Amino acid sequence: MRSVEEHQRVVAGLIRPREPQPVPLAEALGLVLAADVVAPLSLPGFDNSAMDGYAVLAEDVAGASEDNPVTLPVAEDIPAGRTDRLTLAPGTAHRIMTGAPAPDGATAVVPVEVTDGGVDTVTIRAGARTGQHLRHAGEDVTAGTTVLHAGQVLTPAALGLAAALGLGHLEVVPRQRVLVMSTGTELVAPGTPLEPGQIYESNAVMLAAAVRDAGAEVVASTMTGDDVATFRETLSRHSADADLIITTGGVSAGAYEVVKDSFGEEVEFVKVAMQPGMPQGAGVVDGTPIITLPGNPVSALVSFEVFIRSPLRTAMAQPEPDRPRVEATLTEDLTSPRGKRQFRRGVLDARGGTVTSYGPPASHHLRWLASANCLLELGEDVVELPAGSTVRVWDLG
Ligand code: AMP
Ligand code: MG
Repeated sequence: MRSVEEHQRVVAGLIRPREPQPVPLAEALGLVLAADVVAPLSLPGFDNSAMDGYAVLAEDVAGASEDNPVTLPVAEDIPAGRTDRLTLAPGTAHRIMTGAPAPDGATAVVPVEVTDGGVDTVTIRAGARTGQHLRHAGEDVTAGTTVLHAGQVLTPAALGLAAALGLGHLEVVPRQRVLVMSTGTELVAPGTPLEPGQIYESNAVMLAAAVRDAGAEVVASTMTGDDVATFRETLSRHSADADLIITTGGVSAGAYEVVKDSFGEEVEFVKVAMQPGMPQGAGVVDGTPIITLPGNPVSALVSFEVFIRSPLRTAMAQPEPDRPRVEATLTEDLTSPRGKRQFRRGVLDARGGTVTSYGPPASHHLRWLASANCLLELGEDVVELPAGSTVRVWDLG
């Protein structure tokens, strides 16, 4: 039997990053920058008002107060977006809105709140400091400055900055494109009636969600019966667009093992010393890496966590590809099969530092996995583990 680590190495060796490419900002959230971003322009791009009010020469309103207001003629009205260049003549005011370009010569903006809000003339009831409420070109970003760095994960704020700089695309490590294929003649799509002996398909939607949750993209999520020709035809139809193929089912020791029967030497089928998820396979089909997971839903998702999620994220240059691992104190006695790495579903109380195993260890109990927030990792040599022991836990968040 192959160890968990060895199979992890095999899978990691198959999943490769794509060449960096420019992507539109709207598709770049969570991706990693492949190149530094140098500001092509300054921010703000021009001197502008930080308030709704009146652009003035500070000395024209120097003595203004409640008791001694100053009245000035309003020579211009400057809403945000006005593009012609204006000059403020001494002894006049320009009505100006937040973000509108400041006229040449203005040395302060008086907020509308300390005026009568006039349109033809304005009466001002407070003085102004030189520079007050004026935002200056380049005070946020100077053109030519490196503002974002290769290796950085693109957050909403980073995308906002790129947009403010006029960039429509950013050079990133692209998302991995994953084809998800579930197999089984017993499977029926949710939302349609069931015949006796049939079950609803759950792996495809679950793994597609796990792929997206890992930051990758789903090319297609398919379901086929246990028929080699249909399976191969479905695979060929989608695999050209995929960087990785994930299949579920059809890899164990019975008859009608469609995935096993569909490949020759290009895919290696092995037993991995773990529970759940013992039957596994990995290889390259027509140039595309393929990982074949077992069909039991818990096995499939645990296998995705153990073998695929980290290398998938590594191939997208994610700085933290792994789930956080923590140590926690077990609240109850547990047993584990000798010679196998066991991944039990659990509930981690991160603040209390305790973990409770949740549900039976068998691989078809999806209900428990759906309410778990962690995996307990019990080593191959562990057979009995008393309450109070320290165990390794994968925090699923
Ligand atoms: P297999 O690995 O194909 O032998 O499947 C093992 C078990 O998982 C069987 O009980 C299958 O019915 C079940 N199973 C396989 N694929 C799926 C799927 N996509 N959705 C739900 N159950 C599945
Ligand atoms: Mg099957």
